[in-house]
Amino acid sequence: MIIGVPKEVKSDEYRVALLPVGVEELVARGHRVIVESSAGVGSGLPDEDYLRAGAELAASGADVFEQADLIVKVKEPQPEEFALIRSGQLLFTYFHLAASRELTDAMIDSGATCFAYETLRDAKGRLPLLTPMSEVAGRMSIQQGAKYLERPQMGRGILLGGVPGVPPAHITILGGGIVGSNAAKIAAGFQADVAILDVDLDRLRYLDDIMPANVNTLYSDRHTILEQIQRADLVVGSVLIPGAKAPQLVRKEDLRLMKPGSVVIDVAVDQGGCIETTRPTTHGNPTFIVDDVVHYCVANMPGAVGRTSTFALCNATTPWVIRLAELGGQGAIDAAGPLRESVNVHQRTITNAAVANAFGMPH
Ligand code: NAD
Repeated sequence: MIIGVPKEVKSDEYRVALLPVGVEELVARGHRVIVESSAGVGSGLPDEDYLRAGAELAASGADVFEQADLIVKVKEPQPEEFALIRSGQLLFTYFHLAASRELTDAMIDSGATCFAYETLRDAKGRLPLLTPMSEVAGRMSIQQGAKYLERPQMGRGILLGGVPGVPPAHITILGGGIVGSNAAKIAAGFQADVAILDVDLDRLRYLDDIMPANVNTLYSDRHTILEQIQRADLVVGSVLIPGAKAPQLVRKEDLRLMKPGSVVIDVAVDQGGCIETTRPTTHGNPTFIVDDVVHYCVANMPGAVGRTSTFALCNATTPWVIRLAELGGQGAIDAAGPLRESVNVHQRTITNAAVANAFGMPH
């Protein structure tokens, strides 16, 4: 099979969908891999590394789309790529189709088969191709929080770990899933005073077992949330109700209870955010202030640490790219399993119930 890796064209996107080692693995199995020139540069991976691994270089994205049977990407196809997609081509990338009717219609019209990272579910029911980006965003939330708590960034001028004789910052983490537990781990390492809230008691039990002594677990109810945000220097929003809009746990009027210069990092912004005043921001202009509270709500946090994110993503995706290349599109669909589950569009029809429901379409 011919596998193609175009350079990402979405703004602020520095990741690439395949590492040189992934190329090596595919070529060793008899496949051809065509990589667009400079596709890896944003992640510190020069063309020479790909050539050495056995890839062929293409001068443009259009060349990659024209030749490849399977296109492997990071972000959903952008409007300028729609016309390049060929009928019968296999696409393997993040799609998040339910968020865009335009993209969904374009994928139906293209006649391509869309394998979506975000709906690939493993035997334990987990979403292994979403997890690495939640790990990155969770860890990064504390790094960003530390920065925006600095006075020149409009924060309260608080050092997360304090110093001997001065107490550390109090960090409240709303949601103890992948993002929240990774945030807690890094916050604990900074020696901050951390509270992590969740509604899932089993999850709280687990976190209580594994977290160090400066992380406390709390049941997430309205009373506790209000108590916590009054104490917090930094609030991390990391709740998720799969498939649904994030619940707004902190309302606009609650912000008045918070300390001036405190910081909210609402990682859940991609699902609407769990703070009422959240609105999506970009790496170019990441923060805004409401009622003296600094809000950081960047919807693609992992993009800023492209190199780490590329390696984290490819570690998870490459085994599935290899499997898809070995089975072929129809083979992957015929073999019941995670790859078949990940198909969102096939033969000009939506095959994923959640996406179809989002637009009132049949599937
Ligand atoms: P997850 O499913 O692992 O964790 C979500 C947690 O929220 C669960 O433990 C759940 O029990 C808990 N929860 C649900 N309702 C709650 C409530 N009322 N109070 C407290 N906790 C509650 O999800 P995740 O992988 O950690 O992702 C969290 C969010 O971060 C998602 O919206 C995800 O899309 C987003 N995300 C954003 C970025 C970004 O760049 N901004 C990157 C990665 C992930």
